[in-house]
Amino acid sequence: MVMTIVENEVQIPGQIVVLDPQDGSTVGTVPAASKADAERAVDFASRAFESYRTLPANVRSSALAEVAKLLHEEREEFSRLIAREGIKTIREARREVARCVNTLKLSAEEVSRLTGETIPFDQAEGSENRVGYYRRIPLGVVVAITPFNDPLNLVAHKIGPAIAAGNAVILKPHSETPLSAQRLVNLFARTGLPAGLLQMLTGRGSEIGDTLVSDPRVRMISFTGGKDVGKHIQAIAGVKKLAMELGSSCPVIVFPDADEALALDASISGAFWAAGQNCLHVQRLLLHETIFDDFARQFCQRATALRVGNKLDDATDMGPMINEQAAKKLEALVVDALDSGASLLCGGRRQGNVFFPTVLANVDPTCAIAEEEVFGPVTILERFNSVEEAIAKANSVDHGLQAGIFTRDLNIAFRVADALDCGGVMINDSSDFRIDAMPFGGTKGSGIGREGVAHAAREMSDVKTYCFNLQQSVGCETDL
Ligand code: NAP
Repeated sequence: MVMTIVENEVQIPGQIVVLDPQDGSTVGTVPAASKADAERAVDFASRAFESYRTLPANVRSSALAEVAKLLHEEREEFSRLIAREGIKTIREARREVARCVNTLKLSAEEVSRLTGETIPFDQAEGSENRVGYYRRIPLGVVVAITPFNDPLNLVAHKIGPAIAAGNAVILKPHSETPLSAQRLVNLFARTGLPAGLLQMLTGRGSEIGDTLVSDPRVRMISFTGGKDVGKHIQAIAGVKKLAMELGSSCPVIVFPDADEALALDASISGAFWAAGQNCLHVQRLLLHETIFDDFARQFCQRATALRVGNKLDDATDMGPMINEQAAKKLEALVVDALDSGASLLCGGRRQGNVFFPTVLANVDPTCAIAEEEVFGPVTILERFNSVEEAIAKANSVDHGLQAGIFTRDLNIAFRVADALDCGGVMINDSSDFRIDAMPFGGTKGSGIGREGVAHAAREMSDVKTYCFNLQQSVGCETDL
């Protein structure tokens, strides 16, 4: 049995009402945990970890595989829930669920790959009698804090590897999208995973965050979210491991020899997937001077043709922003850029919390929109004349998550990929390309550490060394 903190179990005073950002209708409610609930969750997790720190690997692996199977069986219900509580269209939500099944399967497999090595201790003079090895051990209690934009798969990217590595996990999902996470956690209750190894605590980060983050019994914070919250967590966490998956303003560079149709398709999808509320969103499209006008015209045509509307309609390409405040913040960034001389190539319009696909050019590099993550459906087009200029422009921000390059020239691809200061470079794909098995994370202000199931499982474990000093004088008292 897995404990999910629900009202009758933990006496939670308030509730969080989850609203559909499309029409404000109520999708569900979850308890709003207090600081005392957060402390109790850490108590419970610590005790559960002590009880089950030697839980056999096969039990952890089976639980993860079983949840992957159950999730696949309930994929349509999960997809509809993601599409209702958050910003994704039903097609985007289905894709997220399929990826989440894979993330959990990978986590189940990773259990058997968390191995150690023998150590040749006799390489050091005087250590000839020693033999030993290292193996991976769990950290203990891991707190996983997740954002709203991928409310299911980013949860799986934390709880999957954490369970694979043998930890006790406390999940704190985003307050605006906790329902698909809650349903996922409830699937674990149908497996053999012991109670307390996975808890979900719903509540405002501003209320319970500090209690969870600063508790010394918590050995790791795995955080995905914005830079400001990330900085705050880092400042108060104390001595513990931190994984920080933060934002970006990803560049995609299109060279004149690129396959233009491929570059257009990938850039449009990367720019407007999840209405741009995506850490890999194509925020800056760097186009060679010779192709700029033609590419810009086609890009705007495609952006304007996207169907913005009802998330649950299969024909819809793009949904709303998470709330009106986020849409207004984006509008202010666009207005500021336009006031500073930027050209509006298409869009620029807000209706409630829907922001229509927007393309800007001639943006003053000192504008906030040129430096900050927009986290919405706005892409800035920039020109370049040389490989060096493209690299310099791409590297000019304090972010470095992923980048895309479109070229048929291998030499350019290698040179630019090496020079880009970021965690991943996709050649002939947009910055938005990702599979769940690959290492994933950023440089500079985009974060610390790497996710991707195998990498996260290693970050969520420690190495323990064992060394046996074999005394020749000590023998076994046997009759051999
Ligand atoms: P956010 O506002 O930073 O919230 C993220 C999480 O932090 C939420 O669960 C939030 O809880 C919690 N939180 C808030 N204050 C906290 C505190 N004092 N202590 C502990 N936790 C606290 O981010 P968001 O708007 O959900 O997500 C957007 C950001 O995430 C963007 O910057 C995006 O690029 C980034 N992101 C990065 C990746 C990546 O892999 N690099 C992936 C996806 C998104 P409440 O909801 O209760 O406030």
